[in-house]
Amino acid sequence: MGEIVKEPLALLMGLQELDRQLNQYHEEEKMLPERLQIVQQPLEQAKEMLAKLKSALDQVTKERKEKEQALQSAEEKITKLKGRLTELKTNKEYQTHLHEIESANVEKGKIEEELLVAMDRADAVKKEAAAQEKVVAEEEKKFRAEKEGLENALKSKSESMKGLEQERNALSEKVGKNLLQEYKRLAATKRGLAVVALKGNICSGCHFSLPPQLVAEVRKGEKILACTYCHRILFPAPT
Ligand SMILES: [Zn+2]
Repeated sequence: MGEIVKEPLALLMGLQELDRQLNQYHEEEKMLPERLQIVQQPLEQAKEMLAKLKSALDQVTKERKEKEQALQSAEEKITKLKGRLTELKTNKEYQTHLHEIESANVEKGKIEEELLVAMDRADAVKKEAAAQEKVVAEEEKKFRAEKEGLENALKSKSESMKGLEQERNALSEKVGKNLLQEYKRLAATKRGLAVVALKGNICSGCHFSLPPQLVAEVRKGEKILACTYCHRILFPAPT
């Protein structure tokens, strides 16, 4: 008599363990996109930094071109002023004109200095951007490897899960229909924990102590019995 009851209980415990492993796998599967996003973060940050440097490079390049144009205009202005020197009649006109050339030269010198600064800045940002390109390439490589690792790990697990699924189906067929239904109902409402150990007189599912008569009956192992409080199926923990 005892054997008849102990067997379905053992089957249920086996089923629960298989379900636990399968659920764990499905959880991992669900977590994959999130984990990929996490391992992708360093790459995204490196790309963001590169984009900032590129826009800074555009800005300093534009500044440099503006200074180059300003320098060209200043040189043209000086050439023009110098060309008119011969047309001048009075000494006063001549003196005024010389002053104009002088201040144009001062202006030109200022622009030349600014151009040098702009060129230096453009060079520096260009170097920084080039270095950042390398960082992005490195991060890209790292991310690809990590992604492949995560996906491969899951893929090889998926193979072993197929075996577990088959085992579970075989076990399910052995468990009586009513008991299987009860197990499924409990597993769904008790977060996968349908069968729990009775430890001493304590249900390890809800941690309440159970009436002595129930404890004694569970120990005998002749019937499928449930906890008075949480209704989980009890099995006697080996003492
Ligand atoms: Zn309980």
